[in-house]
Amino acid sequence: MRLLVTGAAGFIGSCYVRTMLDGGYPGYEDARVTVLDRLTYAGRRDNIPAHPRLDFVHGDIADAALVRELLPGHDAVVHFAAESHVDRSVTDGADFMTTNVTGTQTLLQACVTTGVARFLHVSTDEVYGSIDTGTWTEDSPLLPNSPYAASKAASDLVVRAYWKTHGLDASITRCSNNYGPRQYPEKLIPLFVTRLLRGRPVPLYGDGLNRREWLHVEDHCQAVHLVLTGGRAGRVYNIGGGTERTNAELTERLVKLLDADPGLIRHVADRKAHDRRYALDDTRIRSELGYRPRKDFDQGLAETVAWYRDNPEWWRLAGAAEPFTRHGAG
Ligand code: NAD
Repeated sequence: MRLLVTGAAGFIGSCYVRTMLDGGYPGYEDARVTVLDRLTYAGRRDNIPAHPRLDFVHGDIADAALVRELLPGHDAVVHFAAESHVDRSVTDGADFMTTNVTGTQTLLQACVTTGVARFLHVSTDEVYGSIDTGTWTEDSPLLPNSPYAASKAASDLVVRAYWKTHGLDASITRCSNNYGPRQYPEKLIPLFVTRLLRGRPVPLYGDGLNRREWLHVEDHCQAVHLVLTGGRAGRVYNIGGGTERTNAELTERLVKLLDADPGLIRHVADRKAHDRRYALDDTRIRSELGYRPRKDFDQGLAETVAWYRDNPEWWRLAGAAEPFTRHGAG
């Protein structure tokens, strides 16, 4: 078994590859992994230590010649690579369209051309828009509100088209907000933790009552692997974390965990078109594939905070010393 994993120098993909190379996915203990990553600001080579079953290729998923050359000999593509930060897409959406839409299409076309049958596309709950009450199923309409979410929704539709047109064995996952170690300190949890650790104020958008459903990155990666190995072609699988918190509640929890001054919480002007609430119905992956998130949120959050506290060299290198003003929770 040989997998091409895109974007695995980033937060979630690196967790997936580390777990695989550590033997965390039964039956895949001998799998070889090729990582294709452009090493943007969000990607770090040292997120995935050297390993005899790992090949790392520094390159762009939108480079058709490179992707066509790399793919032969692989059994499947697990596609994490993306521009992933909503606030950056509000400032300028161009890279989001190139990487998330054109890059995904480039990979799909190369799979068809080179005969790689299986494709797992990692997407997001943000494609559904915002929901005041209740939950989204996989059949809910796509109503993205940010350029990031629109680029992910577009990529989901391109994946669907390659399944329908070419019979590619492609599945899509849509997960809620991830948290855990090694997340670039621009998203809410790592940004706020690294600022509080330095005694600096944290900027909370609007009234702080936007609600997100939180999923530990290891649970997400287990779910991705379940869909890779057992998911049906042409199907979408929601992956929920089950723990809903307002951004204000989450921020207060981080302040407590770090024993920081609550006066460091500063309300700032809201993000444009800031989605109020995300919430997933993930009955399908639970009933078809036996998915269950294992990590208790309070424990997972405490461990995550401890990781950032214990690894300042990681986030200082990641640029967290800069005066951030952006902080999307996703
Ligand atoms: P990330 O920003 O931490 O990492 C993205 C990785 O992709 C980086 O290593 C980067 O170098 C690489 N990359 C970017 N453009 C590339 C290109 N053109 N070619 C090759 N590599 C490129 O992102 P993440 O948080 O790990 O997210 C992974 C996936 O999960 C994304 O598809 C994202 O949309 C999805 N997702 C993330 C979350 C979350 O909470 N983080 C939630 C839902 C869905």
